[in-house]
Amino acid sequence: MAVRIDGKAVAEKIKAQVAEEVAALKAQGICPGMAVVLVGDDPASKIYVNNKKKACAQTGIYSEEHVLPAETTQEELLALIAKLNADEKIHGILVQSPLPKHLDEKLVVEHIDPNKDVDAFHAYNVGKIMIGDFAFLPCTPAGVIELIRSTGVEISGKNCVVVGRSNIVGKPMAMLLLHNNGTVTICHSKTKNLAEICRTADILVVAVGKAKFITADMVKPGAVVIDVGMDRDENGKLCGDVDYDAVEPVASYITPVPGGVGPMTIAMLMKNAVSAAKIQNGLSVN
Ligand code: NAP
Repeated sequence: MAVRIDGKAVAEKIKAQVAEEVAALKAQGICPGMAVVLVGDDPASKIYVNNKKKACAQTGIYSEEHVLPAETTQEELLALIAKLNADEKIHGILVQSPLPKHLDEKLVVEHIDPNKDVDAFHAYNVGKIMIGDFAFLPCTPAGVIELIRSTGVEISGKNCVVVGRSNIVGKPMAMLLLHNNGTVTICHSKTKNLAEICRTADILVVAVGKAKFITADMVKPGAVVIDVGMDRDENGKLCGDVDYDAVEPVASYITPVPGGVGPMTIAMLMKNAVSAAKIQNGLSVN
């Protein structure tokens, strides 16, 4: 029987640390501020934006919400980004994904000041992550590292398998595991012998976007299993990429969905907002 990793509890701990840092910055006259930009009325995006606003309030971070209509033009959105880049109250800018189809998400990200890029999606920050000299870590992979740390299991020297190679999860995840001295294998839709490779993993991180994709026969006994997926099962119920009930007896530690990686993403975003405020005020980021 695996130990269930409580992502909510770890996230609360991190947010409490962030709140302490925010209070210390406020005592120096610095109030970390974040702008969240939402274009259109995607219901899931609205929920994410609300959760981010709540986390800002909980940690003492000033937040602004900019809600734009779905028909907003590229020029209008870039003009808002330019305004927020120049706004001294705002240290972090987050543009909620997905944007309506007529808007170029990549171009929008490239217009965010890299020092305010709290998602760490800008090519400058992606490059910094590659060379291991970073101020911001992408929130979801950074949250996964914290969850692994919370188990007490060392990453150094372990076989780590990441299933998924997206720019926002899989690739940076692999890079962070590598920076932590894991021996990393990245799998994707063209990988042959996926089950066999997954079975070599001491630490298995899954970010595929397919409900219950990882089955018990793909997991090495005693592995740490981290499920990034947020999917719906056949009954429309929220579940992960890992078949939790089947894998739980095989693993040593496992994250549930919900209540695993999800809460960590927002906690790490708050951490990045504090780092952004420090950088923009000439303070060092620890
Ligand atoms: P994505 O951009 O769709 O990438 C999915 C990856 O899975 C791709 O690299 C794809 O390979 C790979 N894949 C697809 N089918 C596969 C197969 N049969 N075998 C092996 N690999 C396969 O997804 P994402 O943005 O990384 O997100 C992945 C999941 O994480 C989603 O459920 C998403 O909702 C969730 N997510 C959660 C959080 C959170 O905070 N909890 C944050 C972000 C994402 P190819 O590259 O070859 O196509």
